Amino acid sequence: MALRFYNTLTQQVEPFVPLQGNTVRMYTCGPTVYNFAHIGNFRTFTFEDILRRWLRARGYQLDHVMNITDVEDKIIRSAAAENKSIAEYTERYTQAFLEDSAALRLERPERVVKATEHITEMVAAIQELDARGFTYRSDGSTYYRISKFPEYGKLSHNDFGGIRVGARVDADEYDKADARDFVLWKSPKNGEPFWESAIGPGRPGWHIECSVMAMKYLGETLDIHAGGVDLIFPHHENEIAQSEAITSKPFARYWLHAEFLNIESHKMSKSAGNFYTLRDLLDMGYAPEQVRYLFASVPYRKKLNFTFDGLKAAATAIDRLRNFKLRLETDKFPDGLDQALTDRAGAAARQFEESLDDDLNTAEALAALFEYVRDANTAMDSGEFRAGNVAAALAVLDRFDAIFDVLRPTRHETGIADVEVEALITERAQAKKNRDFARSDQIRAQLLDAGIILEDTKEGARWKRK
Ligand code: AMP
Ligand code: ZN
Repeated sequence: MALRFYNTLTQQVEPFVPLQGNTVRMYTCGPTVYNFAHIGNFRTFTFEDILRRWLRARGYQLDHVMNITDVEDKIIRSAAAENKSIAEYTERYTQAFLEDSAALRLERPERVVKATEHITEMVAAIQELDARGFTYRSDGSTYYRISKFPEYGKLSHNDFGGIRVGARVDADEYDKADARDFVLWKSPKNGEPFWESAIGPGRPGWHIECSVMAMKYLGETLDIHAGGVDLIFPHHENEIAQSEAITSKPFARYWLHAEFLNIESHKMSKSAGNFYTLRDLLDMGYAPEQVRYLFASVPYRKKLNFTFDGLKAAATAIDRLRNFKLRLETDKFPDGLDQALTDRAGAAARQFEESLDDDLNTAEALAALFEYVRDANTAMDSGEFRAGNVAAALAVLDRFDAIFDVLRPTRHETGIADVEVEALITERAQAKKNRDFARSDQIRAQLLDAGIILEDTKEGARWKRK
């Protein structure tokens, strides 16, 4: 069966076919950069990365846009508290987000775009909504009138029949999810930063940015729009209301939503003390590929229960695969080829592919891989595995790793061996004795690069790993 996804809009699993040719035009809601992204966020971003990679493995090209929400209530409050401009404040967390994404091996979307660089287009879109009668002004702010959009609720499958028409919310924070009119353009309260515009001074609401940036880069109808389940309502519902009011065309054809990550079966929250960023986990000594594996191993529409046991199990699973690969690359196998084993490799690759075609069932894909690895290891032990079987086995691993991307160790993990560190330290001591400080500094930098911290003491240099 062909590639298919569960579509939140239709509540059905549907075959996936892009609208135009071979290119998938995809928009995913990016981070709000008021702080470091937490691992819940990265569960969703990892799902989107697996989605990207599988679409490409299936022969599609991608035009993927992800926004950075760099203006929003929490940002404005936090920036003011630190006496910084919005741009100064968000720059740090934008960089941190990109670094964390790279550590998790998330492919960079074709375009990563900032809300604050699209204010003009947002104002124009609001004017367009205004011209079509979808807005009203109040206290200098502009609101979207949902009673004008009868299809409101079609994504979240909410029935808004009983909701008071005209009530409004003067906030665009996520926890204000409600079936009421929402703000498109917010007038500034005293001291708040604002943009001058034809619709008055103010700043954009959160929802309009995604409609505008998605349509600017991808056209009026996207193939895929994705995010976490918390965005279905109101954010994505509002994006549909805005975009379709402007274009009278379907905004996105497939809506994909990732379930939440919980920690040890509880909701992650700062107050409960179970709140982690990726950096926290790396500081504890876990490798990024462990985190990536754990996230990728649970199908995206299932809740992911993050546990430290799960992280450790991920390391064991990765080791098993790395050892298998090492065996393939270094063992001496008898000449010839066992046809049954080659067929077995082909079947494993097919099962892997069919599982991912089935709405990205990553758990089944992994099960197919591990069954094959077990069989192949057994065949190696019994001598049935031949030199001629190596290529097909490596091909299975490659197919897997093009999606999961966990086989390559992160550098500091393999690192430099203790004896090499000692040798360099001895050489550095000698260089210092010879007053060759250029060389001694060079060695210190080289060690630092490899994650080794040197401390000079009276007894000589001491060292530790970062
Ligand atoms: P935000 O930075 O809050 O806009 O969120 C960025 C992305 O992370 C969105 O797609 C959210 O739906 C998603 N997200 C937020 N919290 C979680 C969580 N606990 N588990 C999974 N995804 C989440
Ligand atoms: Zn969005």
